[in-house]
Amino acid sequence: MTNVLLVDDRPENLLALEGILEPLGQNLLYAQSGEDALRQLLLHDVAVILLDVQMPELDGFETASLIKQRERTKHIPIIFVTAISKDEQQVFRGYSAGAVDYVFKPFNPDVLRSKVSVFIELHEKSEELQRQAELLKEQELAELRRESEERYRFLAESQPDQIWTATPNGELDYVNQRAVDYFETSFTEMVEAGWTNVVHPEDLPRRLERWQRSLDTGQPYENELRLRRADGSYRWHLTRALPMRDRRGSVVKWFGSNTDIDDRKRAEEAQRFLVEAGATLGGSLDYRSTLASVAKMAVPRIADWSRVDMLEQGRLRTLAVQHVDPAKIEFALELARRYPEDPDARRGPPNVLRTGESELVPEITEDRLAELAVDDFHLGLVRELGFQSYMCVPLVARGRVIGVISFVSAESGRRYGPDDLALAEELARRAATAVENAQLYREVEERAQAARVLETVGDGVFLVDGEGIVRLWNRAAEALTGLRRDDVVGRSAEDVLPVWDHLSVRVPVAGAPGPASAETLPLELAGRERWLSISGVGFDEGTVYAFRDITEERALERIRQDLVATVSHELRTPLAAIYGSALTLARDDLELEDALHEKLMEVIVEESSRLADIVNDLLVASQLDAGRLEVHIERCDARALTEAVIAAARTHLPEGVTVELDVGTNDLPLVAADEGQLRQVLGNLIDNAVKYSPDGGDVRIRLERSDEYVRFRVSDEGLGIPPAEHGRIFEKFYRLDPHMARGIGGTGLGLYISRELVRRVKGRIWVEPNDGQGSVFYVEIPAAAESEAGRKLRIEAGAGS
Ligand code: ADP
Repeated sequence: MTNVLLVDDRPENLLALEGILEPLGQNLLYAQSGEDALRQLLLHDVAVILLDVQMPELDGFETASLIKQRERTKHIPIIFVTAISKDEQQVFRGYSAGAVDYVFKPFNPDVLRSKVSVFIELHEKSEELQRQAELLKEQELAELRRESEERYRFLAESQPDQIWTATPNGELDYVNQRAVDYFETSFTEMVEAGWTNVVHPEDLPRRLERWQRSLDTGQPYENELRLRRADGSYRWHLTRALPMRDRRGSVVKWFGSNTDIDDRKRAEEAQRFLVEAGATLGGSLDYRSTLASVAKMAVPRIADWSRVDMLEQGRLRTLAVQHVDPAKIEFALELARRYPEDPDARRGPPNVLRTGESELVPEITEDRLAELAVDDFHLGLVRELGFQSYMCVPLVARGRVIGVISFVSAESGRRYGPDDLALAEELARRAATAVENAQLYREVEERAQAARVLETVGDGVFLVDGEGIVRLWNRAAEALTGLRRDDVVGRSAEDVLPVWDHLSVRVPVAGAPGPASAETLPLELAGRERWLSISGVGFDEGTVYAFRDITEERALERIRQDLVATVSHELRTPLAAIYGSALTLARDDLELEDALHEKLMEVIVEESSRLADIVNDLLVASQLDAGRLEVHIERCDARALTEAVIAAARTHLPEGVTVELDVGTNDLPLVAADEGQLRQVLGNLIDNAVKYSPDGGDVRIRLERSDEYVRFRVSDEGLGIPPAEHGRIFEKFYRLDPHMARGIGGTGLGLYISRELVRRVKGRIWVEPNDGQGSVFYVEIPAAAESEAGRKLRIEAGAGS
């Protein structure tokens, strides 16, 4: 039905119009003012307007011009209805305001009705035309759409990628043939099942989440995920979808594609894996833990389980096993335990170890399995582990196969190819380098440690290489020889070591390992003769020599030997005399004269006391050594004491020797000393003076004051002592003539004991040559303080020294 708008301010007029137009059977709309008319026009589509000219407020002309101003209403025909004016001007105004016709009251109802019906018809016609035009356009569009759809289907089918479309709510509604082939399914199945079945379970949540987000927001979808190919292997794909929108902007379809990026992705992953593995390998010097961590890293990135076997003591031992499924690690370990080096294995680690060649089995078929399996148990394990594909690569260090790394695919269903093998080989190469580095480092470290040890040992150690160049010279060697390391190392031993030619010939060199017997050699070092005990050990890089300065030991050893000789001689002489005298006295067949009897008895007494003296000296010396000799310091009269000693000496003076006392002063102070010990010192010096004057001479004892000391001076005209020996004669057991070439016996203890006793009372003792001939021994003993008269101090031996 068509609308006809009737506008008049008077209802009766409206009614009249209604009466006239009703028979047309159209829908009549009424308005009682211009505003009312405009309102009606906003609400309804109108075919023609009958407009009263004479209206209060907006009159007909004004209303008409407003209608004509509006885009939506300007084409609506307006018929003015008026009673008042028929003049031309009014009519002109009506037409210029957009009227198509004029009817004047009173009007002929038939004329009005037919006029109106013309416009209605016109309106209906134009509407019909419009409808038809739209229909045509739609048909054309549909055709176009069909064509373009065909075009993009064609495009989709010609693509190397999987192409698909989905409805706005995300349901798959088309996949190209490539996708159907890839998954070896049918179009219908594929479209019905969607992607969920073929996406790797690990990637599924991410896919769902992202796809949903795109569906919700209309943002393009993009994701990288693994899709399971018909052969069961998962391959990485880049999947993308873009929304197609209608004019209003809402999504009408999703256009998607899946691009196989597996090769690129794996190459990237391999690269990343190698970088990480490299960092791990380079980061540790414990190659066992490093290799174990490489096995760990490989799972699941390049394998479902991996194993590292190393050659140790000639056997292949499993160092690490890693399995993607912890529940299966036991099987993998069992396999490793039983078959790491089966000699019959034609495949796997033992074979790789033997040949040094990598092994790649892209697909383990049932036939292949039977061929590979060593026995049923093995077969069972391999089945349990679900071997799909594997590769074994050798670890080669310094040209030798030192181990094997194995990678196995099972759960993931992946098939190893040449690229994977290349990656595994690269990894093995890096791992082997790491092992090599670790070993080298350890060697260097061991050497450095050895060098540190060598620095701290007391023995001199040096290394002379095959070329005769000194390569090592430790601190002790520096100290013992005075030769600085910088002056020795790197130079020819012949040039820098004084006795090298001698040494290299004489020093026995043991083959390493093995104890070397040492050679003792004298060596002139810094103007002193030193005795070195030196031995050498030969090894690959040259000879290591170790030496010790045994000059002191040697001297001690000599002294010990001398002591044994002298003491036994010293004991034997008096013993022989006593024994001889006693035997003579004991004879019955001899009637001894009284004088002889007495003489023999005297010999026994004297020699016994000599024996006692020797034994006493030994005892005192050992007490001094042990710090057990007691010293009782008291005030002693030096002169009286000396006189008593001289008197005793005079009782057995040899011929040609005289002993004289000379006291330089009358106010000689008392001395602070242990009287008995001081007596022993003086007695010893006087005895020596007499003893070492075999050709006779005067022995003079002089007492004098020297500052806070009383000095005893004992001079003789005897054998004398070379100045170089002045220090040494005070050493224990030291004798100038150990073998008694001059026939003068002694233990070498007298001066040692004297020095020690003098030291203990804070005195001094030394020797000087006597003018012309013989020696002068000096002893200085502290004078006793007056206030200390009578006081006795008891000091432990050694405490005052
Ligand atoms: P000994 O029992 O041998 O006399 P001593 O310790 O008393 O031991 O003396 C050490 C060495 O010093 C003696 O062996 C001797 O060679 C030398 N000696 C000591 N006194 C004299 C001296 N007055 N004249 C020469 N040599 C002496």
